[in-house]
Amino acid sequence: MGYILAEGEAFYLRLAKMFKLPALHDLAAHRRRVVLILMPVGALASIAGRLLSVQVNPFDAVFEPLLAFVLSLFTLLAWRRWVSLRLVEAGLVVVVALYQLCGLYYYSLQGDLFRVGLTATAMWFPLLYALAYLAMTPAGAALFSLGYFVGALLALPVGLAAGHRFTASAVNPVVQFYLVNTVYLGLIGLYARYQREHAALKRMASSDFLTGLANRRCAEELIERHLARAERYGEAFSVLLLDLDHFKQVNDRHGHTVGDWVLREVSLRLSRALRESDVLSRWGGEEFLALAPATNAEQAKGLAERLSQALEGELLVGNLRITTSIGIATYEPGDTVERLVSRADAAMYQAKAMGRNRVVLH
Ligand code: GH3
Ligand code: MG
Ligand code: MG
Repeated sequence: MGYILAEGEAFYLRLAKMFKLPALHDLAAHRRRVVLILMPVGALASIAGRLLSVQVNPFDAVFEPLLAFVLSLFTLLAWRRWVSLRLVEAGLVVVVALYQLCGLYYYSLQGDLFRVGLTATAMWFPLLYALAYLAMTPAGAALFSLGYFVGALLALPVGLAAGHRFTASAVNPVVQFYLVNTVYLGLIGLYARYQREHAALKRMASSDFLTGLANRRCAEELIERHLARAERYGEAFSVLLLDLDHFKQVNDRHGHTVGDWVLREVSLRLSRALRESDVLSRWGGEEFLALAPATNAEQAKGLAERLSQALEGELLVGNLRITTSIGIATYEPGDTVERLVSRADAAMYQAKAMGRNRVVLH
């Protein structure tokens, strides 16, 4: 399910680009709308179920209005934003699951499960697996689904212990019910696996193997997103291009392996000097690019000084020292990734020409 969502997101991004649709974060608002529509519909369905039943059994007489009440309450909580949508969604899944299980145990204890098979509400049963994967983390949903299925399975021995026995006509629907639930459980588990693999591949595709930083592809995408936002909200942001000074000498004197370790330590030191919202990426061999959101030229200069200071002192690897030349460029209306980065690049080359180990603002 998560895999489908991720694919859906990618598809949406393509559409959004083509038709200039709202940004991706607006998808959260869409999700909220869907939940806010589905819950009252569920409440209405519960009431309709109650009204349309020819014979109202004691279970539905109590639980259907209760479900309608809880769904209305959840709608209110989500609508007024008193509780996070995630929590409402997870709570919703649990409540509906409990309702389903209570119903199943009721029919089992009272004997209808063995006499006539299942009721129409059993059709809703497998929906919960899918909903759980939408509302919870894959691991949480897997645990929930398994518990839900085992809970349903245990309704059988409970009824048998109460002295009920299957009639010939009830066997088929009950067996089919448990079989189809097993299939759903397996399918959903498969999707969870796809999702994990997809997430792992996505991580691999966007990170640099040596340093674990974001790679160039990922950084370009990020800049692209910030350009779109800057265009929309007029928010300034800066990019800092760092190139290590005389790095070739490190390789020449100490070997390529030490060079690699230096790159790792430099990445770590630089990352620690950044704020939470800044993103550091490995732009090329010994070049790094830092993206600083909501940062003007002056602030970016401060950040660059901090980054330079982070490299001061001897590195743990090989007791050597390394410095960096930094070029800064700040967003200008009409910028593209290439234009913005080439300004930072030009500034960086100027820093090199001026003697290295310094910061130049374009
Ligand atoms: P400058 O101050 O002008 O930037 O000098 P420099 O020596 O750093 O510049 P140059 O671009 O000539 O050399 C960059 C070196 O970085 C060359 C290359 O061997 C090294 N390098 C690039 N990627 C890696 C890597 O992944 N590991 C190691 N160990 N070295 C790398
Ligand atoms: Mg270089
Ligand atoms: Mg260099």
